[in-house]
Amino acid sequence: MMNTPIYGLHIAEEARKIGIDPKSLGIERMLCAGEPMSEPTRKRLEELYHCHVFDQIGGTEPGAWASMCEVKQGLHIIEPFFLVEILDQETLQKEVEEGQMGVAVVTPLGRRSFPLIRFNTYDIVIKGEDNCSCGRAWKKIKEVVGRADDLRKIRGVLFSPKTVEKLIRDEFREIIEYEIVVERTGMMDEVTIRMEIDPNLESKVTEQIGKGLKERLKIKTNLTFQIRIEPLGTLPRYTLKAKRFKDKRGL
Ligand SMILES: [Zn+2]
Repeated sequence: MMNTPIYGLHIAEEARKIGIDPKSLGIERMLCAGEPMSEPTRKRLEELYHCHVFDQIGGTEPGAWASMCEVKQGLHIIEPFFLVEILDQETLQKEVEEGQMGVAVVTPLGRRSFPLIRFNTYDIVIKGEDNCSCGRAWKKIKEVVGRADDLRKIRGVLFSPKTVEKLIRDEFREIIEYEIVVERTGMMDEVTIRMEIDPNLESKVTEQIGKGLKERLKIKTNLTFQIRIEPLGTLPRYTLKAKRFKDKRGL
């Protein structure tokens, strides 16, 4: 099965609604692409479908240029077919060190049509170590952080929506759907998280979840979020690439 991670979650939710356990579908392997997948989401999909879930990164122009191996720690750059540079975002000159964040610039090798030379993917990744216990010698990226255009400065703090995705999928599973909205009131940036919580929970529990999330977000992002709990069905359901981050500051 190949899909975006969010679509994998969506199919599982829909299947359960009509009384089908996704585990019973007999999926052996799932390959996810199209948007950054956090590790909690990958594990969640493995649980839901009881199958192996692998991450992949690519784009329309260069094709898929890095993929996860059976060790499931980071993605191998497919070096026989791609020359990938992970460059400093500001200057696009220097290759970053292992463990550092940079933008992936890709040159597909041996292309006869649609040649690309040093194509800027605008994908932000963390450079990984060179060796892997699977035995492949291809270089690795440790993690896909997100799109360069999704990284924003809010109140002077560099913010990636993926941090929130990771936190919610890992620690706040009662949250069914959410959306992040950044607005400017006067000179200040206001960041709000709108969310739908499992309606079967008591309002006291719901309140506690909101409070807990606010505290964890402050630690993880250094930002104070406004929390808004919405009735079930208020927020849009995303079936393709999720657009849960809305920047309304008109920057
Ligand atoms: Zn490997």
